[in-house]
Amino acid sequence: MDAKPQRAILLVRISDDKAEDAKGVGRQEDDGRALADRLHWGIAEVLIENDTSAFKRRKINLPDGTTGLRTVRPKFRTALDMLASGERDGLLAYDLDRTARDPRDLEDLIDVVEQRHIPVQSVTGSLRLANDADITMARVMVAIANKASRDASRRVARKHVELAAEGKWNGGGFRGYGFTRKGMEIIPEEAKVIRDIAAWVLDGRSLNWIKDVLNRLRVPTVTGKPWNARSVRSVVTKSSVAGLRAHRGEIVGPGQWEAILDRATWEAVCATLAGRVRTVDLTLKRWLTGVLHCSQCHREISGAQGNGGPRYWCSTPHGGCGKIAVNAAKAEAEVERQVLDLITRPRVLERLDHISRSEVTDDARRELADDEGQLKQLAGMWARKEMTLGEYREARKIIEDRVKDSRALINASAPRALRRLLAGDVRANWATLSAADKRDVVLTLVPEGYEVLPHDRRRGNPFQPERLRPEHVTTAA
Ligand SMILES: [Zn+2]
Repeated sequence: MDAKPQRAILLVRISDDKAEDAKGVGRQEDDGRALADRLHWGIAEVLIENDTSAFKRRKINLPDGTTGLRTVRPKFRTALDMLASGERDGLLAYDLDRTARDPRDLEDLIDVVEQRHIPVQSVTGSLRLANDADITMARVMVAIANKASRDASRRVARKHVELAAEGKWNGGGFRGYGFTRKGMEIIPEEAKVIRDIAAWVLDGRSLNWIKDVLNRLRVPTVTGKPWNARSVRSVVTKSSVAGLRAHRGEIVGPGQWEAILDRATWEAVCATLAGRVRTVDLTLKRWLTGVLHCSQCHREISGAQGNGGPRYWCSTPHGGCGKIAVNAAKAEAEVERQVLDLITRPRVLERLDHISRSEVTDDARRELADDEGQLKQLAGMWARKEMTLGEYREARKIIEDRVKDSRALINASAPRALRRLLAGDVRANWATLSAADKRDVVLTLVPEGYEVLPHDRRRGNPFQPERLRPEHVTTAA
């Protein structure tokens, strides 16, 4: 085992899965050769697996006489053959857990390794197969990665929304705002922005106000997209900002990096923002919260108690312009009238029925339970020292990303609300929906919500229904 392979294979991948394959083949090869030098290995062969979708799955004949779709990895198979025949004496894969994504591939590789005592390494460090513990770990990682690939398509859309909102994507992988991706070193300009945000929050400024200031100053986000309330909240409340490590939402101890905010400041910021969430939740009783936008300043308008009863107001305390207000009951009645008019049209009904039969939330719920079980297992393996902290972190991150997606899907409760609405008399059912369900239905029909135009004073006081203007009614075609 001590002999260093001098005729090893370097296996790299071309993939169209940008999220996991930001590095080009050339770069992968450079990294692979650099690792080979460090290990004193000689590379005799570079194999490039074409892992783009066109090559991913093919129909093949199975031993039982049926046909089935299988992931085909010809270069991986070539590598196995060369290793089995002794033609090559080591395997260095860029990211082995993804290269051998099918557990069957991995088992074949393990067979070869065990028979011929061939060393295996990967640049990303996720897999070695040097001993039983490594092999156990490899099986876990491949099982996890394999599941990730099957689920990928279903989660993609949702995921991108989430990531963009959190400012995580930097085109070459993920990093948290304020820190470098590798080594978690502080990026001074971003750290300053985080400290400014913290000061503003403690000063009573709204997330929307802060978002506007940052956008006006053209402060870049990690994604390059403009700031929004969620990304502002996210960058300042992450535990890493206070130099703390979190696991499943709970602080588990100090991180290995420097803090941007001291712990007391960070806790005060989180508490302040949490307090605001509670007040927003009360306004959720007014179901058009999250649906209406101000036509003057384009902020979200939320329900509030006004002098003349409940109203939706572009509230100045929440950073709004204060210019737009509308009677809550009348606005709700008008949107309700428009929605009922839409959903009783056959074509719209048909489309809604299709959405309502989407089982994605049930899948997500099952998946969430699976994943939470798997996280527990992993934590157990780590506690029993069956895996290193690095391996634990890596496996955990894959699962945790998926947990987040599942939660997002579960929260997208439109299918459930629609099922309730469409079972029987639509008009009668509408009246029984909860505020949250009504909101979901409206946002399914009118994803961008409604704009509220100014009241035309020349026409006196009566409510003007045309002030509520739907944006993009997608299902009404
Ligand atoms: Zn406004």
